[in-house]
Amino acid sequence: QAKTDGRNSYRYYSSEMNAHMLERIQLEQRLRQAVVQQEFCLHYQPIVNVDNHEIIGVEALIRWQDPKFGLISPDKFIPIAEETGLIEPIGEWVLQQALRDLAHWHSQGFEISMAINVSGRQLINGSQHGFSCLLNAQLQKNCIHPRYLHIEITESMLMDDTEQCLLALESIRSLGVDIYIDDFGTGYSSLSYLKRFPISVIKIDKSFVDNMLERESDANLIKAIVMMGQSLGLKLVAEGIEKQEQWQMLQSLGCDFGQGYLFSRPLPSQQLELLLQEQMIPAALSI
Ligand code: C2E
Ligand code: MG
Ligand code: MG
Ligand code: MG
Repeated sequence: QAKTDGRNSYRYYSSEMNAHMLERIQLEQRLRQAVVQQEFCLHYQPIVNVDNHEIIGVEALIRWQDPKFGLISPDKFIPIAEETGLIEPIGEWVLQQALRDLAHWHSQGFEISMAINVSGRQLINGSQHGFSCLLNAQLQKNCIHPRYLHIEITESMLMDDTEQCLLALESIRSLGVDIYIDDFGTGYSSLSYLKRFPISVIKIDKSFVDNMLERESDANLIKAIVMMGQSLGLKLVAEGIEKQEQWQMLQSLGCDFGQGYLFSRPLPSQQLELLLQEQMIPAALSI
């Protein structure tokens, strides 16, 4: 009996594995096509000052609109893009599109900043200045001051190729582009990273915010991250705020900025522009 079960479960396992591999190969092929046919777009989520609700910037979040399968989440295709190297052309497209949109908003008098998610593979492609050269070229092309651009990296990236990452990040920082550490608290959250790497802002991961009202341990963890960040002179952004009570608690803990569905979901560029028009007095008009 046990033997048969074993064999059955093995067979089941292996056919499931084949199906998984097939799906993965198909997804990879479609992703290659998507790059050529430019099936991506960017949505923008506001990053807001927790005290006065002012939109200080937006985070660019990529969307893949497959003609057959509809909208595909970045959590599903970014890992494949990273493994296959497709992240390089995709990342370049993101940078171009985001800065083009940012230049447009600046021309309308909305003085917001732009945060872009960057993968490890983009940072250490070839020379240590490779990615910062790309940033610099796009900033110049769009006449955008580097202080309006931020890049977001994750802790796990810093662990993989520490030396190369450090050089690449220093090169980016020397342009005047700020570096945010994303999903903070989910990796090793080593204090030494915060000291060693030229980081200006910590983004507290959504998973802590999710449970902060119910679990005292999560609230305490956020408190500790905020205190640590402050003592190192860093700014703090809380991600994934969905409830008013979370917002208030984060504000009282000393978080500087917030991001989440409570304030706004990621929006297509035109809708974000409408929100800016509603919420902000363009700098040019306020003089
Ligand atoms: P992330 O950078 O940590 O982005 C935050 C994610 O949380 C986004 O998911 C956003 O839509 C979602 N989010 C924000 N507020 C809330 C909230 O209040 N509730 C809930 N439930 N979710 C919220 P999204 O857009 O699906 O992106 C997932 C991840 O994909 C990003 O996580 C980022 O790591 C990656 N990603 C997105 N765009 C890019 C890109 O252009 N390049 C790279 N390399 N990665 C990207
Ligand atoms: Mg991010
Ligand atoms: Mg995040
Ligand atoms: Mg994330």
